[in-house]
Amino acid sequence: MKDIIKLLDNNREWAGRVRAENPDFFRKLEKQQSPKYLWIGCSDSRVPANQITGLLPGEVFVHRNISNQVVNTDMNLMCVLQYAIEILRVKHIIVCGHYGCGGIEAIMKNKVSGLLEHWLDNVKTQMSKHRAITDDRMCELNVTAQVRNLSNNTIVQKAWKQGRELHIHGWIYSISNGLIKDLKVSQNELKDNPVRRSR
Ligand SMILES: [Zn+2]
Repeated sequence: MKDIIKLLDNNREWAGRVRAENPDFFRKLEKQQSPKYLWIGCSDSRVPANQITGLLPGEVFVHRNISNQVVNTDMNLMCVLQYAIEILRVKHIIVCGHYGCGGIEAIMKNKVSGLLEHWLDNVKTQMSKHRAITDDRMCELNVTAQVRNLSNNTIVQKAWKQGRELHIHGWIYSISNGLIKDLKVSQNELKDNPVRRSR
């Protein structure tokens, strides 16, 4: 029980500290959230979106799952995506993977079965396309594949067709030094639309 009580104590301390620094902080947040960013990251406890990007509550809408997968049949993510794009009108979607991802490593070493194996099916397909690849490189390629999945997603494509500003970024985080690397695979328009591409 001590472990849990500690969290509630921490919370009271944190809320008090924030109020002391900015008395209006919670009152403002209560009225609305208007984050510019949607974060799609890994559930790994070492990769917390707000902390590693220095963002406060209210500044980033977050979805996390094992190995930051973008699967079009994932109702949870699809609802997050629709809400973020159509209601919150975020301008940036960040897919952030990380080196040393347990999900990727497990697939690489053929150590998963059951539900997890099914969940990481995309990674398995990716892996089969590359021979003698390192775990780190696979973590990067996994991010790139999810950026591609997002840019082919109907909710994203609808926003682009409407001329909305919406950028998709692929990043990778290094647990060993706390730094994020931009994989430079950003997408911000419909690839098959020559008018938008030429602008
Ligand atoms: Zn991970």
